[in-house]
Amino acid sequence: MVDVQDLAKYPFLEEAQDYVRRESGTLDILLKSERNRILCECAVKRVVDALSRKNPLECRVYGRDAQEDLFSYVISRMLVSCLNDRLLIERLSQFEAHKAYLSFTEEENTDREKIARAIGIEIGQNSMPVLTYVPLVSGLHEERWKLVNRSVKDGRVFLLRIEAEELVREQMREIIRERLPLSVPEDVCRQFRSYIEAVAAAAQQQALEEFGDVDESSFPPCISALITAVTAGTNLPHVGRFALTAFLHNIGLSTHQIAEVFQRAPDFDLSMTMYQVEHISGRSGTEYTAPACATMRTHGLCVHRDAVCEKVNHPLSYYKRKKKMHE
Ligand code: SF4
Repeated sequence: MVDVQDLAKYPFLEEAQDYVRRESGTLDILLKSERNRILCECAVKRVVDALSRKNPLECRVYGRDAQEDLFSYVISRMLVSCLNDRLLIERLSQFEAHKAYLSFTEEENTDREKIARAIGIEIGQNSMPVLTYVPLVSGLHEERWKLVNRSVKDGRVFLLRIEAEELVREQMREIIRERLPLSVPEDVCRQFRSYIEAVAAAAQQQALEEFGDVDESSFPPCISALITAVTAGTNLPHVGRFALTAFLHNIGLSTHQIAEVFQRAPDFDLSMTMYQVEHISGRSGTEYTAPACATMRTHGLCVHRDAVCEKVNHPLSYYKRKKKMHE
């Protein structure tokens, strides 16, 4: 596969990476040329479409040709890496895998086999090694993928071709995800600053749309306890302050609104609070996601668990679920 149009359809393949490495001089030149703006805007659009879970059918090509499409893939990965935000990374990986999988389903059988083989899956056979199968299905929750529900013989899991093809998509997502975040030099991130800010603003807006109006009565018990502690003037340990700030930021509160929560503390220091809030919510270039329940437990922050807690593993999932119950 040497055609840049094919490479743009599967930009995570080694051949595509080789092409980008070979042409990185071109990318460098492009970034210094007037095409810079076009490429970066395409990359931002790519991330924003991923964030809003847009149907990849509606967004097949970013840019005016396959090369711009491929470069915008590279830049979009650099943008989310500069922000180092877990949600953005997950959404971009899912979106890119979905997009590539759509192209995959349109290929001839023999080409599909070649592409699947290039990412370590033999779809032409009616089985795959258990050791390949198990990590591939770890993110799939349907009963049919559970190993106990499959026929296994001599260390191989039997699969219909159509099922093996479904697993190609999982493998694509895994390959795209495992290489993120990239280690992008700080000066390059600085060069992308305005585009990174555009992505961060879109993420904030998306959070507002997804979580809707703030409903304090849906906060998980751990977060309510942190707010009560702040209000009572308790000096929260760093991790508690971080968990609270990141949670409030993730559900879409602005820096100012978060500072208002901390303002309830008797020893409130506006400039220190604004500094901490802005640091956590991305002004310093790195966005943070609130810690999962397991981390909260490790730090002794998981308190007053209730029935909803049994069904979630993240305070943000608790909030979403509880909010729905209140609607
Ligand atoms: S289980 Fe999770 S959501 Fe519930 S209190 Fe503990 S950390 Fe919070």
